[in-house]
Amino acid sequence: MEFHEAKRFSAPDKQKVVLVDIDETICFYSEVRRYDLSQPNYDNIAKINKLFDEGWRVVYWTARGAVSGKDYTEHTRSQLDTWGCMYHELVTGTSSHPKPHFDLIIDDKAKRIEEL
Ligand SMILES: [Mg+2]
Repeated sequence: MEFHEAKRFSAPDKQKVVLVDIDETICFYSEVRRYDLSQPNYDNIAKINKLFDEGWRVVYWTARGAVSGKDYTEHTRSQLDTWGCMYHELVTGTSSHPKPHFDLIIDDKAKRIEEL
């Protein structure tokens, strides 16, 4: 096998990509954690829309449906549209390359929405 040098970040002339979680990131729950009851946080949505406006490729990346197997893609798309979310792609837990369910993410490129 021949190896190439992998760059850590996109080249300056390439569009940057951000993966954005949905639940407890741009929307929250007051009691029952059921996706149709999620309440948008418009301050947080504005932070992501700003990245979109700055030229980032915005991918909303949610594990909705990863455990239950239910396809929440269209419902989620409808919520994002209703909330005024600007994005290029939506990946859910039942997409062809799904976001898996997990309890912790450890990643050198991760930020919580509060840090934006
Ligand atoms: Mg979340």
